[in-house]
Amino acid sequence: MKLFCVFGNPIKHSISPKLHNSAILGLNLNAMYFKKKIQDKDDLKKTFLEYCLSGANITVPFKEDAFKICDEIKGIANDIKAVNTIVLKDKKLIGYNTDANGFFKSINDFDIKNALILGAGGSSKAISFILKNNNINLDITNRSKEKLNFFTQHNFSTLLHEQIDTNKKYDLIINSTSAGLNDENLPIKKEILEKLFSNAKYAVDIIYNINTPFLNLAKAKNLITKDGKDMLLYQAVLAFNIFFDNQYDETTITKFMKKAFI
Ligand code: NDP
Repeated sequence: MKLFCVFGNPIKHSISPKLHNSAILGLNLNAMYFKKKIQDKDDLKKTFLEYCLSGANITVPFKEDAFKICDEIKGIANDIKAVNTIVLKDKKLIGYNTDANGFFKSINDFDIKNALILGAGGSSKAISFILKNNNINLDITNRSKEKLNFFTQHNFSTLLHEQIDTNKKYDLIINSTSAGLNDENLPIKKEILEKLFSNAKYAVDIIYNINTPFLNLAKAKNLITKDGKDMLLYQAVLAFNIFFDNQYDETTITKFMKKAFI
């Protein structure tokens, strides 16, 4: 039997086991996926090997640590410097980042030329590189300077909130901050957001299963909106395919994983 796991702290909230086990069951595979809270970054590799895992997902706050423990890094994870999916192949840990492509797949039907990302944390890195790789013009804004440095060093256009030009037209505004997750905060001042929304077509909040103040305001401005559920779903679909060597088509995996949301 192949074993898979998601590592994080906290991990109780994670629905990754539900998603993956739903696809494992649907495809009738001899495998199991569970969640494991770890206390320390040093436990990542140790636990992976102790449990004889075939693969793992990694969530907050260990994605950067996961990048460091891998023997080989594939694809966009090299730019983001964070890994959310690891597989064991020929005794080597191979690291991937499926958050980036998962996000892009979730906005597949959007027609966008330029975007503004609010927030400069881990998820913002994944979203920035995938949008840039797909030739979307991009500005990234954050309330404080420190986390913007990574983006400036990688030649992204970065702004503090007070530097935002509210007359600039962004097709898509993305909330990648945690504002609205456990509070009623907007990620930036309401008057700035209202002006940006009045020129925009789409708003995405990658927080899932919550009607955040950001999404509520976007809906009130008649924008096309999306929360983070599809990003979560598609990063899992892409990870599943990595776990099982691309043997199954994405549509089938998606169909089974979607059942876990019901
Ligand atoms: P990080 O902790 O790495 O970054 C958080 C960012 O949010 C920072 O830029 C921080 O700014 C900013 N921020 C936090 N609170 C506020 C606030 N009240 N107002 C303005 N800015 C704020 O988090 P992640 O990037 O890992 O995750 C961010 C969110 O994305 C979380 O809510 C998480 O649930 C969600 N997420 C969803 C995923 C999905 O699959 N749908 C995947 C990954 C994350 P500063 O630098 O100034 O502190």
